[in-house]
This record gives sequence, structure tokens and C-alpha cells, in this order.
Amino acid sequence: MTIELSDRVKAVPPSGIRRFFEIAEERDDVISLGVGEPDFSTPWAARDAAIASLEQGKTSYTANRGMRELREAIADYAADRFDLGYDPAEEIIVTAGASEAVDLAFRAFVNPGDTVAIAQPSYISYEPGVIFAGGEVLSVRTREEDEFRLTVEALEEAGAGDAEMLVLCYPNNPTGAIMREEHLEPIAEFAREHDLTVLSDEIYAELTYEGEHTSIATLEGMRERTIVFNGFSKAHAMTGLRLGYALGPADAITAMNKIHQYAMLSAPTTAQHAALEALDSCENDVREMVDQYDRRRQFVLSRFREIGMDVFEARGAFYCFPEVPEGFTAEEFAEGVLREEGVAVVPGDVFGVGGEGHLRISYATGLGDLREALARIEAFVADHA
Ligand code: PLP
Repeated sequence: MTIELSDRVKAVPPSGIRRFFEIAEERDDVISLGVGEPDFSTPWAARDAAIASLEQGKTSYTANRGMRELREAIADYAADRFDLGYDPAEEIIVTAGASEAVDLAFRAFVNPGDTVAIAQPSYISYEPGVIFAGGEVLSVRTREEDEFRLTVEALEEAGAGDAEMLVLCYPNNPTGAIMREEHLEPIAEFAREHDLTVLSDEIYAELTYEGEHTSIATLEGMRERTIVFNGFSKAHAMTGLRLGYALGPADAITAMNKIHQYAMLSAPTTAQHAALEALDSCENDVREMVDQYDRRRQFVLSRFREIGMDVFEARGAFYCFPEVPEGFTAEEFAEGVLREEGVAVVPGDVFGVGGEGHLRISYATGLGDLREALARIEAFVADHA
């Protein structure tokens, strides 16, 4: 007997990068520029707080929405840092990573057959999340000539005015694109005009180089139709602690909590203690990590230009998105550079429309490895010129 799988699960293809992991396992000198995860450890003060909470036996569930002090700290942080004002009692939910929050939103707001427009290339979890929730995905192609910002032209071209929901992620995974207030204004206007609910994944907000991050939820008439996602994985280097959160109108957060309270009960308690400390005392650690990412970003961008590969000026997250040289598809380049030079990168196609012909390069890796990886990529390009 085999257990019958649901149609929704069957509708989602297996991950396109699994094959690359298998190739990578064949060599022991692989440098990975493939993973979207900080190479730093969680700041010590946050780790200490987690350890102390365990020593004190704080190992019970917390409130479903997360510890009250943590929600208050998140409210203060979001207000100070990004001008986002949310009530910790009703408008914030703490989740097991931003991933859980995004999934809750799809499950709470998508009806069977609803259309969810996704600005692509994008983080790989949105599309499966929509399908698991019974919705239909509408891909909205962002373009390199627009520096991978979402534009009204792209929304119109895709027919996104008829969608129920719009998902965007800036600073962006995989492109490193950011959107400033003047770029977000027309998108906000489009969302208001077409009555779209906006899911704004801002997990890389702190990793904005050159200027400050603006949240679309701060624009006129947007707060009531937007859910903002953020978390501790990226800026605070806490991926394994699994802690994120969502900010939104009380009714929407209550609906998400309805699912969360049954599916999860509460986010990991130890991680909540770490997160509270991270917000309380780790601002300098975050600044230090962001400075290092920025140095690596500038190095990687300049090396790709030296190698002769076109790459647009990524200003956020820890990714850049160079074009593959002529004669290769992204997949061929990624497979070739892995087999011949032992450098793992991700072909852009994995991230949806607009990703073809590009590679996602993560610079969440030390400068020494980045130097060596870029030298190997240079050798690969020279060998195949
Ligand atoms: N959102 C984006 C855009 C990401 O790139 C990632 C991780 O790569 C996540 C969410 C997942 O975050 P978390 O670890 O908080 O679940």
C-alpha cells in the first residue's frame, strides 16, 4: 500500500537545486555561494540569553502570539527603525521563522482559486505556499533594465489588477534589488486601485546598503491592506533558532493566529529569549555584520565586472545576480562551474520568471572564500571563452 498524496502536494515540483547538491557531494573542495544563510554565528549576548533562559527552566509554551515583552520589543524596534507602528497586543504575531508567518498568511487569506501575484524572480517558498493554500500563482516578471524593481508596467503586463493578493520582497532574494519610496509609491497606488492585499517580505530590511529601507506599509492607505514579514534569521544571524514575525491589522493577525495556535501553539521559547536580547543589545553586532556584507558586496560586484560578466548594482540582502556569459544557460554554467571548479551557485531559473540567464551568488561567505571562488569562476569563464 502507498499513502495517497494530496493533489496540492503533487502539484508542487521537487526543488530544482537538489541535483546540484548531489554533484557538490562528489567533491570535497567545494566553495558554496549557494546558500542564503549568514556565515556569522548569532551574537553572543543573544546566545547567552538563550542559555540563561534554559538554566532558569524557561522551557514552557509562551502565549500563542509570542511573549508579551518580545512583542513589545518588536513594536519598538519596527517603529524606531522603519517607522512601522503596530500594537503589540493585537497587531504582531511571533512565528517559527518568517517562513511560518508567510505560510500562515497564505492559509488565512487565500480562498480556493484566488490569484496571488508574485513579483519574480523571488524567494522559492512563495509559489509552493500559494499552491498548498489552494490558490493560483500569477508570475509578475521584474526586469534587469528596471534593476529588478517591481513596476506598474510589469503588474499590468501580467494582469495583476485582477489578482486578490500581491507578494513582494525587497530587499530581494535572489537579485539583491531594493525599492525606494519613490518606486513603491506607484505600486501602492496600483494595490489601492485594484484592492490588492499586499504581503511584503522585509526580512532583509536591515541589509540595505546605501540609504534606508522603506516599508510599503508606511505609504498612504497601505497599512490596512499590508502584512509585513520580518525575523531574526538574516540580520541577527539566527537561522537555526527559527524566529520571525508578522505585523498587520488586528483582524488579519488574529486570523493568522487562529491557524498558528493549532499548528504551532507558540514559536520556540528559547529562541524568543534570544530574540528579546538581540533587539535589546545587539544593534552593534548587526551594524558590524552589515558593514562586512557591504564590503563583500562591493568586492563581488567589482570582481564580476573584471571577469567581464554583467551584473547590476545589487544594494540589498546578501546576493548579487550576474548574467551568465553568452553560450551558456544558467543551469549549464552552474553545473559546469561546480563540476570543473568546485564553486556552487544557483541558476536564476529556480526563482521564477525573469531569473533565466542569471546566477544567484550569495556573499554570506568570508572574503577569503569569496576571493578564491571568484578566481575559480574567472578561470572557468576563461577556459570556455
Ligand atoms: N524570506 C526570504 C526572502 C528569505 O530569503 C528567507 C530565507 O532564505 C526567508 C523568508 C526565511 O526566513 P526564516 O528563516 O525567518 O524562516
